Amino acid sequence: MEEGMEAAEVSDLLVRDGRIIEIRKNLSARGATVIDARDRIVMPGFVDTHWHLWNTLLRPRVTGVFGASNFGNYTPMKALYGPLYRPLDSYRSVRLSLAEALACGITTVLNFNHNVVSRDHADAELRAHHEMGVRTLFGYGTPEGRGGEIVSEADVLAVRDRWFGSTSDTSVVYGLGVCPGQMLADDAAMARRNGLPIIVHGVRGLLQAGLVGPDVRVAHSYRITDADIASAGANGARFSTSATVESMLGAAYYSNAVNVQRLLGTVAVSVDSAATQTADMFNAMRAMLSSSVSAEAGGKAPFTVRELVEAVTVGGARFHGLEDEIGTLTVGKRADIQLLRTDQPTMAPFSPTDAQSVMDAVVFHGTPQIVDTVMVEGQVLLEGGELRRTSSRAIISEAQDSMSWLDLRALTSSSAG
Ligand SMILES: [Zn+2]
Repeated sequence: MEEGMEAAEVSDLLVRDGRIIEIRKNLSARGATVIDARDRIVMPGFVDTHWHLWNTLLRPRVTGVFGASNFGNYTPMKALYGPLYRPLDSYRSVRLSLAEALACGITTVLNFNHNVVSRDHADAELRAHHEMGVRTLFGYGTPEGRGGEIVSEADVLAVRDRWFGSTSDTSVVYGLGVCPGQMLADDAAMARRNGLPIIVHGVRGLLQAGLVGPDVRVAHSYRITDADIASAGANGARFSTSATVESMLGAAYYSNAVNVQRLLGTVAVSVDSAATQTADMFNAMRAMLSSSVSAEAGGKAPFTVRELVEAVTVGGARFHGLEDEIGTLTVGKRADIQLLRTDQPTMAPFSPTDAQSVMDAVVFHGTPQIVDTVMVEGQVLLEGGELRRTSSRAIISEAQDSMSWLDLRALTSSSAG
C-alpha cells in the first residue's frame, strides 16, 4: 500500500541503508537480498502511540478491565507491583512487550513509562528497546504510586544524553518525552525548558491550565468533548485512541475518536496496556469501527476503512511528528514494513480487485497470525512469524521468572505492611 493507497499492484520495493529507495515493477538490484512477497500484502508497519510496556508482566494479575467496573483491578495491581520492580523486571517486561509488538506487525512504539522507579530502570528499558530494534519514542514519567513528584530533570537529561545524544545509535530510538504525573504544570515547564514533547492521559487538565501547545500528545479519546478536541487541536495537540481498551470500558469512558477524525482530519491508535488487552492492531481497527457505528445514531458518520488503515499507520506517524519519515511506503521514507500472509485460512481466497479490497481484507480478516515478516529501518526483525534476533522462548521464560519474583515480593511487602 503506497502513499495515498490509490493502487494495489504487484511491484518490487528496494531498500538500502534503512530507507525505501525505489518502488516499481521488475526492479533489479545487483547483490540485493531478495524477500519473496508472493501471497503477501506489503504495507507499512503499525505505529503505536502510547503503551505502558513496563506492566505487561502483570498480565496474570490484572482482571476485570471492562464494562461498569472500568479499570477492574488494574490500578491497585500497578500500585502494588510497580514500586517492587527491579531494573531487570522492567527490562524483561519491555522485551516481552516488543516481542508481542513484532508478532502483531508494530514497528514503532511510544513507551509511555509511568513507572520509572530510578534512572537505572529507564536505562534497562532503553537497553531492551535497542536490543529488540523496534522504533521507539520514550516517555519519562514518575514512578507508579508516586504521582506527586515532579520528574527529576537531572535524570531525564542524563537519560537523554546517554540514549539520545549525538554519539548514540539513534537509528531506532527517536525521541524522549515527559509523562507528567500530578505535577502537570511543573512537569510541562520542565519538558518545555528542554524541548521535549509532553505526553499525557487526557487533555482536560492541560486545557484548564492553558498549557496546550503543538508539543502535546494526548493518549485516549474518551471523556473529551467536541469543544475539547477543537480547542486542543487549534493549539496543535495530537490525539490517539486506545481503541481496544476504550471499547471495553463503561459509558463514562465512551470514545470520541471518530470526532477527532472529523474535526482534526486524523487520529492515531495506541495499545495502552498489554496487561489488560492485546497489541493486536487489526482488532483495534475493528474496535474503532464498532464503536463509531454504535455512535452513528448520534449523527456521527462512522470511520471509513481507509481511515482505519491510516489511523494505525500514517496517523500514528503524524502523532509523533514523523510523517515525513514513516507511516507509508514512499520512496525516501524509512523502511518500516510488514508482510501479511494472504494464503491463510482467515484470509483466503484472496483475489483483490483494487486498493479498497486489499484494505477490506486487512481490516476485516486480519489477525496477528498473518504477520509474516517485519522490518524496521530495513532490518528484518521477524521472519516467518519468528523473531530473528532472539528467541521468544527465552523472553517468555525470563518474564515468568520475573513475575514469580515479583509475586513473592508482593506477598512479603503486604504481610509486612
Ligand atoms: Zn495509558
